[in-house]
Amino acid sequence: MADKNDKVPENVSGKFYVDNSCVPCNDCLEEAPQLLKYTDDESKVYFHRQPANPEEAIAARKAKEICPVEAIGDDGE
Ligand code: SF4
Repeated sequence: MADKNDKVPENVSGKFYVDNSCVPCNDCLEEAPQLLKYTDDESKVYFHRQPANPEEAIAARKAKEICPVEAIGDDGE
């Protein structure tokens, strides 16, 4: 389960985030390429935007579900 106290610092504030257990494997980027980005050093992925409509909310949830290490959380602020 993702830890909101261990977020990748680049995440924008809001419900969805990636924590530091991200590998990164790229799987979530295939589900939500409009919301997620690699950090500059490409060691993690983060949410550069929060979902802004129902379609993007579905994409964010799919990204959360597909993450093999459960690095994506939806209990952020
Ligand atoms: S699916 Fe999970 S481990 Fe893979 S890049 Fe995304 S957040 Fe990181």
